[in-house]
Amino acid sequence: MDLSRMPKGKPSVALPLCLNCAEYVRRVDAPCPHCGHDTTVPGGRYKDDGFYARDALERLLTVMEQATTRTPRKTKAED
Ligand SMILES: [Zn+2]
Repeated sequence: MDLSRMPKGKPSVALPLCLNCAEYVRRVDAPCPHCGHDTTVPGGRYKDDGFYARDALERLLTVMEQATTRTPRKTKAED
């Protein structure tokens, strides 16, 4: 994976990106007005230009952060 090709910045939280052409869309449950594909299926420019990889990396970092900050549960023996 070429990390230098990954998109910079963060996408808008108000408008989701089409997971095919990486253009902003109003609703994720309708065909994309830009490319006509299902906006919820990753492919096309979204994968080729690194948006998919960036999202996967952000999800991984979030899970890793949650795992390191989570307080372990007490076992019954510790109560
Ligand atoms: Zn699209």
